[in-house]
Amino acid sequence: MYNIENDIERVLVSEEELKKICDDLAAKLTAEYGDSGRPMILVCILKGSFVFAAEVFKRLRFPCAIEFMKVSSYGGGTDSSGFIQVHLDLKRDVKDADVVLVEDIVDSGRTLEKLSQLLANRGAHSVKCCTLLDKPERRVVNFNADFVGRVVPDVFVVGFGLDYDEKYRNLPYVGVLKPSVYQQ
Ligand code: 5GP
Ligand code: MG
Repeated sequence: MYNIENDIERVLVSEEELKKICDDLAAKLTAEYGDSGRPMILVCILKGSFVFAAEVFKRLRFPCAIEFMKVSSYGGGTDSSGFIQVHLDLKRDVKDADVVLVEDIVDSGRTLEKLSQLLANRGAHSVKCCTLLDKPERRVVNFNADFVGRVVPDVFVVGFGLDYDEKYRNLPYVGVLKPSVYQQ
């Protein structure tokens, strides 16, 4: 059998650490939204954040909806030239709701910057962003997530929902791929 774990050079965020990160982020979301009295919607950005979003979601004990979006972001080099294309949109009105965008990793920052603007324009009461991983070295726009699980260096990571060529999403940890995987 081809075992995808053989393609991993090293584990960057272990299963144990991922559990702690999800506990911590769920506690922070509870502190911020648990008593708001407003509708709260977690927006899982497909596909990469589905594992992380599920882990955070199942730790929340206040009323909270989950919705899904699939988007692609395209770059230009400057703040205003990037745009996003929406492939799958929300099935629910976000007007007057507290929205939390849940992302796997913030890289250039374009996706969350544009998506936050889009949902704010639809009349959300608030839009904040929760990301499992953050690669601040790679940022090209002035964007910072409100809730960050773990800052990582500028390496390509897979696992816990993140893919390379649609593989490795099912790994239970976040790892760095062996360079030979890209080169073959
Ligand atoms: P950005 O912040 O550049 O708009 O986009 C972030 C998206 O780029 C993530 O949601 C993810 O799909 C992809 N991405 C960025 N860095 C990595 C990485 O190290 N590994 C994987 N698998 N995807 C990444
Ligand atoms: Mg993504």
